Parts: sequence; C-alpha cells; structure tokens
Amino acid sequence: MLEQYLNQLNEAQRAPVLQKDGPMMVIAGAGSGKTRVLTMRIAYLMHHGVDAFNILALTFTNKAAREMKSRIAAIVGSNEAKNLWMGTFHSVFAKILRIEADKLGYPSNFTIYDTQDAVRLISAIIKEMQLDKDIYKPKQILGRISSYKNSLITVKAYFNNPELQEADAMSKRPRMGEIYQNYVDRCFKAGAMDFDDLLLKTNELLNRFPDVLAKYQDRFRYIMVDEYQDTNHSQYLIVRALSDRFQNICVVGDDAQSIYAFRGANINNILNFQKDYDRVQTYRLEQNYRSTKNIVEAANTIIDKNKTKLDKVVWTANELGPKIKVHRSLTDSEEGRYVAGEIFEMKMREQLTNGKFAVLYRTNAQSRAIEDALRKRDIPYRIYGGLSFYQRKEIKDVLCYLRLIINPKDEEALIRVINYPHRGIGDTTVEKLTIAANHYKRSIFEVMEHIDKIDLKLNSGTKNKLHDFVNMIKSFQIINENQDAFYLAEHVTKKTGLIQELKKDGTPEGVARVENIEELLNGIKDFTEGQKEVDGARGALAEFLEDVALATDLDNDTGDDDRVALMTIHLAKGLEFPYVFIVGLEEDLFPSALSLNTRSELEEERRLFYVALTRAEHQAYLTYAQSRYRWGKLTDAEPSRFIEEIDPQYLEFVNPAETTGYRYKPMIDMDIFGDVDKTKLRLQKPVSGTPPRRMQEDEPAPSANIRRLKPVNTSAPSSSTGLGDGKLAIGNIVLHERFGKGEVLNLEGIGGDRKAEIKFDVGGIKKLLLRFAKLDVI
Ligand code: ATP
Ligand code: MG
Repeated sequence: MLEQYLNQLNEAQRAPVLQKDGPMMVIAGAGSGKTRVLTMRIAYLMHHGVDAFNILALTFTNKAAREMKSRIAAIVGSNEAKNLWMGTFHSVFAKILRIEADKLGYPSNFTIYDTQDAVRLISAIIKEMQLDKDIYKPKQILGRISSYKNSLITVKAYFNNPELQEADAMSKRPRMGEIYQNYVDRCFKAGAMDFDDLLLKTNELLNRFPDVLAKYQDRFRYIMVDEYQDTNHSQYLIVRALSDRFQNICVVGDDAQSIYAFRGANINNILNFQKDYDRVQTYRLEQNYRSTKNIVEAANTIIDKNKTKLDKVVWTANELGPKIKVHRSLTDSEEGRYVAGEIFEMKMREQLTNGKFAVLYRTNAQSRAIEDALRKRDIPYRIYGGLSFYQRKEIKDVLCYLRLIINPKDEEALIRVINYPHRGIGDTTVEKLTIAANHYKRSIFEVMEHIDKIDLKLNSGTKNKLHDFVNMIKSFQIINENQDAFYLAEHVTKKTGLIQELKKDGTPEGVARVENIEELLNGIKDFTEGQKEVDGARGALAEFLEDVALATDLDNDTGDDDRVALMTIHLAKGLEFPYVFIVGLEEDLFPSALSLNTRSELEEERRLFYVALTRAEHQAYLTYAQSRYRWGKLTDAEPSRFIEEIDPQYLEFVNPAETTGYRYKPMIDMDIFGDVDKTKLRLQKPVSGTPPRRMQEDEPAPSANIRRLKPVNTSAPSSSTGLGDGKLAIGNIVLHERFGKGEVLNLEGIGGDRKAEIKFDVGGIKKLLLRFAKLDVI
C-alpha cells in the first residue's frame, strides 16, 4: 500500500519523506508538493512504527488538517489515523490549555473570545476610562494588543519597556498600557482567552512548568508544520520548545508566499531554522505539478522582482496552457459582469462545474460587484471569510446563552443576552453590575448571584428580574448535566423566548433568522450524533463551542454543494482551482494604498500576487476596472503595476485598445448595482486615466482578440437578450443598456461571432459582440 503511494512522489519529494529523524526543512515554490510531502511523511512514519499518538501536525486551516488526515487514513487505515493530533496552532493548543488550565489559574471550561467579543470589551474599557474613541480606536487597540501578545510582550513586560511606552505616547495613546492591563484583567476575570492568548498562554505554560513541557515533548516526538513561512514569533517559540528534546521536526514552506507579516508572521523563522537546530537537512523541490507552463513562468517573472528572497527554481512539465487573460473594464460592475460572463461561457463550453472556479480579491468589499453579476446569471457562489455563520447576530445570541451555561463568568456572553430577548434589565442596571464586578474583582454573574447582599440601589422589581435570569441559567446548567447538547440547545431557544421573538417578526429577514437557528440546531445534532459514534459519550456542549469558536468558514466547507468560490487572496493560501480570476488589479487597491510606503510592504503585496496567481491550475484571469466604487465614492483607477511586471509573452489582452481619445467619466450617480446612470455621464477630455502606453502597445489587434475570446459555439445557448444575426443594419440608431445611444458604423463576423462597431454619443466607438450586447434598435 505504502509503496504504491511513495510512487506518487518524485525523487526530490521522496527524500524528505524517507528521512525519519532529525530536523529538516523543505523550502520550495508554490505547487511543488510541500503539503503532499508532509502528508506522505506522516503516513511513512506510522508505517514504520511511530505511534500516531506521538505525531503532531500543524496546518494553516482545520480543513487542511482534515483533508490530510483522510489521505493518511486511506493509506494507514482510519483507526490508526484517528489518534493523530492535527489542526491549526490555535485548535491544537486550545485543547492542551483546557487540560492544563488550572495551572494558569483558568477554568478548564474557559471561553474563547472571538474578535467581536474582544473589540466590544475594549470599547467598553475605553468608555469606562473616559478616553476618546477616535484616538483610541478599539480595533486598532486590539491590533496593538495582539501584536504585543504575539511577540510575548506581557503587560508586565510592556511596563518594563520604556521604548514601547514612548512609541504609544508618540502616537497619542499614552494610556495604551493601562488599557492592555484592564483588558487582560477583564479577560482573566471572565475566564476567557482571546485568539492570541491561546498561543501566549501555551508559551507561558511551557516556560513556567518544566514537567508540563517534558510531558508534551515526550508526547509529540514528531512535529510537522505546514506553511511555516507564516508562523509568528509566539508560534515559533512553541514549536521550538516542543521539539527541543527529540529534534524530530519537519517544517515546509515558501518564503515567496509569506503574506502575514502584517499580523506578525516572521520570515526569519525560515531563515533562522538552520541556526536553531543542529544538523538541519534542507530539501528543495523544484517541479510544480499544479499549474500550466504559462502560469508557472509568469509567476516566476513576478517574484523575480522581489529583492528579499531565497533563490529558488520552479519549473513544470505540464502543458503550456492558455495565456493569462487580462481584461479591462470601465467600472467594477462591468468587471463583475465580465467575470460572470466568462464563467457562464466556460461552464457551457467545457461542461465545467461551478467548483472549478475561484474569484480572488484583495479586500472583502470587492465581492459585492462580483456577487451581483453572478446572481444575475444564476451562478451559485459561496463567499469565504467575511462574517461567518457563527457570527451572525441570531446565531451568536444562541451561542452566547450556551457559552454562559458552560462558563457563567463569560461577561461578553452575559452582556449580550442579559436583556435579549427583552426582559426589563436596562443599561443602567448592567452598568451598575459591571462597576460592582470590577470593584469586587468578581464576574457580573457572581455579583448577580449575591445581589441581595450588595447595595446597588436597585428596586425589588429589578432584583427579581436578575434572580430570574440567574435561575434560568442555573436550570440550563442542570439540564446540561443530564442531556445532550442538542436537547439543551433546543430547550434554550424556546425557554429564553428567543425563537418566539424572531417568529413574531414576520419579515423575510425574520424568517431567515429562524431558519438559521434551525440550521444551527441541525449542526449541533450532527455534532452530538458524531460524538456518540466516536466514543459513545454524550455530545458535549463545551466541545461543540470550542469547535465553533475556532472554526473559520473555510472549515465548514463540506464541499457538498457545487459553487464558485469567492475569497480574499489571504484565505486562498494552499488551495488550488482550475480557473482563477484575480480581480481589482488596480493601483492603490492591489497593491494596496496602505502598502506603498516601504519596499518591504510592496514586496509583501507582490508575494500576495504570487500566491494568487499560483492558485490557478489551468487558466488565470487578471481583471481591472478604470473606475470603482470605493468608500461610497466613484474613484478613478489605474491598472496595477503588477500586470506590467509580468512578461507580456504570457499575457493575452482581451479588450481592444481604446479607439478614441475620449472616455466617459461617470459622475457620482450609480444604481444599487453600481451601474452608471447614463443621464449623468459627461464627456471628459483629455483622458487622464487611460492605461499606460506600454500596455496598449502590447495589445493584439482587436478583431483577432475578440475571436479568440469567444470562439463560435453554436451549442452554447445565448446568455442574454442580445440581437442575433440579421436584425441590425449599418446606420441603425441603437440604445445600449450602458453606453446609451449610438450609431452602427460597421458589422462583421457571422453567427455567434458577429459583432458591430458602434459610435456611441457618450463613450466613443466600441466593438460589441452581438451575442452579448444588450441593444435595442430605435
Ligand atoms: P502551496 O505552496 O501552494 O501550498 P504545495 O507545495 O503545498 O503548494 P501541493 O498542494 O502539495 O503543493 O501540491 C500541488 C498539486 O500538485 C496538488 O494537486 C498535488 O496533488 C499535486 N502533486 C504534488 N506532487 C505530485 C506528484 N509527484 N505527482 C503528481 N501530482 C503531484
Ligand atoms: Mg501547501
């Protein structure tokens, strides 16, 4: 069995798989099989007698871990694979922290605060400290705290470091340290850890307790890390500590794909690996199996522009493949239509499923225009990132009740649900409770439990309401001891009045919310059943909540339904798709305007572009718009420098060069889909925003271009109301959906390839493919 799998590796890939012991590093370009090597290596170790129990594999997403596990299970058997510890740093170490929590003074049922919770808490602290939230912006403050934690700068370390304090004072936030202190105290009091704590506290645990360290060193004798280039300092220290005894550590990564520096990822972790361990074996993989020659070579030309990089060769024996298509559009909504149109076309022509396509963008905001266009074409899609299912209001409300049952000290959960549904416990009361809780260094729930003994000047009605709430949560806790998570969750939605509240709201949104809650209950049921199957245990609510807290929506992707994937490039790391659209390739958007200050920032953007392009297996598209709706305003845009940086021999420019010196500059009004209101267009001259000359010179002749873009395919149904052959004549005056009125100057081509040259009153001369152009003769 194993032999058969080893044969699916080339020689260079086999070497790190066959080296069983010692520190090793595989540094190689995108698509060269790093993840495959890691997977096979685990199977190989197990095949050679290493107990699954002694192997730890750290991946970028839990989904990647699950996929890896199922591949390994296919080779070594699922019973064997079951005991492997695999997952993200956060999920693996959250489990260890639960086991060891008491050593750090935490309850083992500690809550994991998500970003929403953390930001809310920081806002509250800023308010309590009477600071200006325009200077102390909660999200930015959380970012600072996060970067301290990931560099292992505790509150104490912060106050011992005059430079850090000075830096914060210089940026007009002299009270940063106090906020940090309060935040940490409040989290601790609430029995809660935020995401960064999961790493920070693990470090603390391993540093402070040599016996604990020894225990896990002994347990994890073989450690593997994927995407090593994006580990931060805190993660690096954990790996180093755990692998210190046996030194059986294998990390794989690609410095050219390091894209999380803004979150503290440290490329030096790769560069210093050789210094950290003795006798490090370094392996290089050079053959890319993922992409066509065109894509691999184009990607090489991009990354070559970066000065800071390790020298690497990436080549492929794959077919040459089509050139990368570059498409220009006038607006972001037109860009969306192009993407949707191409997907529609390709699906028809090549009989492809939706799942073969991905649309990648720099910022989440860009998804809207793409979504609108896909919807209009009835193409199912799924957005990854953004707000996950578990962060939707109604879902989080239910989850917060459940969190409170597990950990009544969880203040963020309590504040969220104490008066939802409405039960007459007002803001003033909650404020009084918070102040008392801070004063007595207790949780709000504890204060409520003892409300009769504390004088908060509450009337007896309010006190009764608080009693009722406490008793309700306690009654849930009793149920939790006897029933499974599904039973409890369903009971909670009814008993709290949550579901009735939503049902009262008969609007479509209200109905959708009820459905979402049902979906959540289904999820809990699945989990409960799954648990019963595994160990016969009652489905534990606490475990479900932990899964949820650390789930990204990439993790929830069961791959069951066939949809086009929409996501940011950051999320796409490690993934692959046959057809990839990289949209919004415009200056100030990609590269981001925020990254143009230093060379290293620009280089990180370029690596991001490299990651994006190397996701494509067969065909890549680069699209840009000349104007885009950003921050509620229509903004002019220039094509991204990254397009120019690719050797043009790998590119095919889809649009004809502009045939007129005029182009319309849309004024502010756009409809909800971002379409230009044509009555508000005006001619503008001279053209400041035309693409750079070089790009136009590189463009092939328009007619050749169009033919290549849309080959005649009579079997493909026409996807629009476009005019067929014969209905249009030279001299006709037509009305176009977007360009307005124009005169037909010329007609050429036949069948599906027939196009018209039209001189529009606004926008100049355009060549339009009649199959798609929405024209009316007037
Ligand atoms: P990235 O840098 O994007 O994470 P990677 O180096 O981890 O990429 P993999 O995802 O492991 O690369 O592999 C890329 C693709 O090539 C996968 O589809 C994988 O199955 C395939 N592949 C890798 N090695 C081989 C091989 N020896 N023979 C055939 N296919 C291979
Ligand atoms: Mg990989």
